[in-house]
Amino acid sequence: MADRRKFIARSLLGSVGIALGNISRAAHRQAGILAAPPPMVVSTWNNVPANKTAWKVIKKGGRALDAVEQGVRRVEADPEDMSVGYGGRPDRDGKVTLDACIMDEEGNCGSVCFLQHIMHPISVARLVMEKTPHVMLAGDGALQFALENGFRQTNLLTADAEKSWEEWKVKSQYQPVINIENHDTIGMLGIGQDGRIAGACTTSGAAFKMHGRVGDSPIIGAGLFVDDEIGAAVATGLGEAVIKTAGSFLVVELMRQGMPPQAACEEAIRRIIRKQKGYREFQVGFLALNREGMVGAYAIHPGFSYVLTRDGAHEMVQAGSSF
Ligand code: ASP
Repeated sequence: MADRRKFIARSLLGSVGIALGNISRAAHRQAGILAAPPPMVVSTWNNVPANKTAWKVIKKGGRALDAVEQGVRRVEADPEDMSVGYGGRPDRDGKVTLDACIMDEEGNCGSVCFLQHIMHPISVARLVMEKTPHVMLAGDGALQFALENGFRQTNLLTADAEKSWEEWKVKSQYQPVINIENHDTIGMLGIGQDGRIAGACTTSGAAFKMHGRVGDSPIIGAGLFVDDEIGAAVATGLGEAVIKTAGSFLVVELMRQGMPPQAACEEAIRRIIRKQKGYREFQVGFLALNREGMVGAYAIHPGFSYVLTRDGAHEMVQAGSSF
């Protein structure tokens, strides 16, 4: 009984503490005590042009949501990028299937998965967020929605991507390879001049995957999570591993408990290593920022990088890793 009483007292104290934490954060913000974070853009891997595009929007005073959408659209349209949008490597049946999601400063989000024939899944995801009562549309339904909303049907399989599929078919072995060939989602996080945070994530997924396979990238909380009060995170790498640990949500929740983004990304990677066998064979990387404008990134294996844009300068940064 005494133990139970202690437990209840502790739980009550816990909730009071949490409530006070929230109240004081909101009150501080209203009173202008919490400084607005500096405008910035970060994105996974090495796509400087994507950050440049996003930064143009932010520089003009545009919304972070518009910035990240415009930024990743640039990669979606690039036939040379073989892991996102047009030019992405197909699944094992030779079909290019795309996953994307977007999340705004109010916690609104939209997502499409297993979408074919549409060059800009991120913009379809945004429309799902803005025009439907849903968060996620999949496959033919997502395609129908896109076509109804003026998107054009395009053949996304380029000659280069088709060639790599033909080569893959010789052995037909589906084995995700660390950092090379088949993992390169672009996840982008932005902070506007108004201090508000948004994020976007888009990919053609693991190359030569099973037809119908959906990864972490369109799943809110796995591939992307934004909480404007705390910060935001994106993931890249083996989607199955990220989904199993609700990766981006985990990173944001660790930041909520007080960790800086770097420590939060490291702890999320440690969690995967602790809980998932086979981590030596696959890569996962997290990239995060918080409301103070601090940035963190970490991966299981070396090779993960990101682009950081602040004050109009674009910097390629190598992330640390566990091995
Ligand atoms: N996370 C993506 C997926 O599993 C792939 C990647 O980031 O490279 O679909």
